[in-house]
This record gives sequence, C-alpha cells and structure tokens, in this order.
Amino acid sequence: MSAESAAAKAETVRSAAAYLDGVSADPAWPLELFLEVSNICDLKCAMCPTFSPLNPKRADSIQSETRGLMDLESFEPRLDALLRHALVVHAFGYGEPTIHPRFKALLERLARYDVWIDFFTHGMHIDAEMAAFLVERGIGRVTFSFSGVSKEEYENIYLGGDFARVLAAMDHLQSERQRQRRATPEIHVNAIGFEHQIRRLPDFVALMADHGVDAIHLKPLDTYDSIPELHGHASSPQGDFEQKALQQAHETARQRGVWLLSREYEAFELAAESKAGRAGQGHHKGDRLLRESTIPLENLAARARETAEQAKAARRQAPPAEPMRFSREPLPEETPWMRLSSKAPLCIEPLKTLYLDLNGNIKPCCFADGRVYNVGDLARSEGKAVWDGDPFRNVRRALEQRRYPAALCKYCIAAVSYPKLMPGRVLSLFVTVTRVLRPLRPWSLASRLALIYARLLKPPKGALFLYRYATFLLWVGAAMRGRKDNR
Ligand code: SF4
Repeated sequence: MSAESAAAKAETVRSAAAYLDGVSADPAWPLELFLEVSNICDLKCAMCPTFSPLNPKRADSIQSETRGLMDLESFEPRLDALLRHALVVHAFGYGEPTIHPRFKALLERLARYDVWIDFFTHGMHIDAEMAAFLVERGIGRVTFSFSGVSKEEYENIYLGGDFARVLAAMDHLQSERQRQRRATPEIHVNAIGFEHQIRRLPDFVALMADHGVDAIHLKPLDTYDSIPELHGHASSPQGDFEQKALQQAHETARQRGVWLLSREYEAFELAAESKAGRAGQGHHKGDRLLRESTIPLENLAARARETAEQAKAARRQAPPAEPMRFSREPLPEETPWMRLSSKAPLCIEPLKTLYLDLNGNIKPCCFADGRVYNVGDLARSEGKAVWDGDPFRNVRRALEQRRYPAALCKYCIAAVSYPKLMPGRVLSLFVTVTRVLRPLRPWSLASRLALIYARLLKPPKGALFLYRYATFLLWVGAAMRGRKDNR
C-alpha cells in the first residue's frame, strides 16, 4: 500500500472515530462503498422478489427499475476521492455481478485503491480461471447464495442453477487458495432457512465444509404474497425438531471448523411472531398467508414454467403499459420520519456506508428503497459532495435521534431487517480495519473505532470492561504478529 493510500485510509478511520466521539459533526468519508455492479441476473430463484418466475407480476417487478450493468469507468472521476478513502468496497447489488462482461477489469480497477473487496454471487460463473484471478487479486470474500444438500433440493429452488457446478466453483476457490498459499477470498455461504434445508442442516454444514467453506450465514426465508407457493416452505426455528437440527448443525460446524452464523434465522421469527402472529411462521412480507397454495419442492420448477407461460400469454393479450419510470429526487428536508424507541438497536449504515446504483443514484445503504428518492446522484455532484450534502446529513442527524426517513427506510424498519449495531458487527469492523490497514499497523486506530462503536451499544459496565479487555488482547496479539512478520 502506498504511503498516500495509507494516509487516506487512516484519515477515514480517524474521522469516523471523531464523529462517533462527538468531536466532529459528521464523518468526513464513508468507510464502505456499495457498487451496484449489476441489477440483472441469469438465474430465476424461486424466492427472489424480483426474478422469481413464480411471481405472476415478474415482468412488472423487473420493470420497476432501470436495469443493466455498471459502467464504473464513467463514474470513476466523480468517485475517485471516495474510493481512495474507503476501506471496503462491496462490488454487488441486487443482481449477479459475475455476468458483467468486464467484471475482472472492474475488480482490477477497484483493487488499485487498496480496498477490501467482497461480493455475493450464485457462483455459476466461477471457473478455475476466475478463481485463480480472484485469489491473485486479493479479493477479500466471495459469498455464495446456496442452500440444499442435493441436486433436487438446490435446483428446484435456484432455478437455472447447477448444483454440481456451484460446488465446483467453491472447490476451485479452495484449491487456488491452497495453490497460491493465500487465506482469501474467504468463502462464505448465504443459506436460507427453508424447511427442507433445516431438516438436513447438519448434512449441509458437512457438505459446505467438504467444499472449503469458511462460514455459513443462515437467514430466514422471506415470503411474499406474490409467491404463495413458498409460504409453507418457511421453517420455524422455535420448533423442537428445528432446535435439535440447529444444535447438531452447530456441533458439526465446530468439529469441521466452519462458522455457522444462525442468529438472524433464530431471532427473526421471534420478531415476526411478536407482531400478533399475523405472519404465522417465518418472515412474511405482505398481508396474507396463503398456506394452502404451498406446493411440494419437486413441483416448484414445473409450477414456475406454468406461471411464466400464463404470464406471457396474459401479456400477449394485454401488452404491459410503458415501463415504470421513476425520477429520483433528493430526499426533501420536510419528509415523514419514523421514530423508534431509544432501546431499539441503532442502524449504523448511513454513518459508514454509501451505496451507488448503476444509474449513478446514491442511497445510504443497500436496503433503502431508492426508487423515488435518493440522497444525491453522480450526474449532479461529486461523490464526496453527496456524502457531505444536506440530504445525507439529514439522514445521519435523524438516525442519531432514532428517527428514520419513511421514504427510504419504511420497508426495512417494518421487516426489522436493518443491520443493527451488535457486538459481532463491532468486532467485524475491528477486523476489517486492521486487515485493510495492515501495513500501517493500525491496531490503536482500529481498537479506538471499535471501542467507540461498542459504547453506542450501551452495554452494562461489566460487559464494557470485558469488551475492552478482549479488544486489548486482540490488540496485543495483532501487534505481536505484526512484529513477527517484520522480522
Ligand atoms: S433502516 Fe434500513 S433502509 Fe434505513 S438506513 Fe438503515 S439499513 Fe438503510
């Protein structure tokens, strides 16, 4: 890392710490950037709110956005300062990034900024050559969207996907890491709590371990009114069988050295059920729970084909109106705000993240509904000016008081799905900062930032003491490792 680059990153961490400490009104730079490399996809996963062929309104969902692939070169002049100061770039959005024909070139460009790069993928396009490239370029993490322990379980959900090919993609990454003697990219898997998935969760963990996976993130299944066929496929983490499966899966994960992160799956249903049980089981986005429409896993692919044919025929009879066009406007100051209790966990995204969509619009995070409002766009301003601009600042000011702009956060807050400030996130922030700034031996900077975030958690005194102690040990361990590396 060049001295100039290191100084820019250190400035970002210092400014984030000063902001969180109350010394400055705003952080000078975002720590993380999201780049929506693509918002199109070549799979049609059954549970996807946009591309699922089970959704009779699929065409409308697709047309509700301008779709395509990001032209990073055209944005770069206005993004350059942010990229130089960022620590992390998430090179994906709500689409498949690896179908971008210049994806490798895009990653090469980003790698020049000395950032930690990660992306989500379905994994169908990671062949041996791509895997070698990802390892060589030092990509930090690749997260596969994957569930199921058999061809049938996978291919009836991830429609268009190939079970063997995705497992081979994980193998390519794993063997390249070994060949090049590198620890990255970390291989993560985003798995969904379908009933069949939970039934065989210990087998799934073992399968993932066989293919070099480092961590599995188990998420609840989001169900929608528009895809009733999936309603009964959601599992209840509170059930006896599920509890047992989770326990066994954690045991397998421990034995096989895989991280199984199931907290979101386990916690989410509790939150949904506490809302008067409207949703019944699982996490439902809509008003109805049409359990009677649930169809067996093995019939899903055929049902998807049928629905797609019917939708096509309906469109032939009544061609759709002009695609919806949204003119995104900067979020007005006078906007309705939603207030959460001061005890509700804080969303920290707008304090550290900037999301750029492929049309140049900027949101404070990937969850915000940016179809009507944004907090700025690259057609009108430099990226740094958007980060410092009033719409973005107003969102940060509001969040400090636990108020959220309804226009952007409504769905996210309703689903309680926002990234909450929790100890795990603070620790992962610490690890990221130390990784990116390794040449600077940034232990004190990273610890300071982590401690300040930890204070926002408002922990009891004893917990804060333990946390400080743990951070201190991490600091000592990391500093000693740095010294050893330098010998
Ligand atoms: S509450 Fe959700 S939509 Fe709003 S800023 Fe946080 S993550 Fe984004």
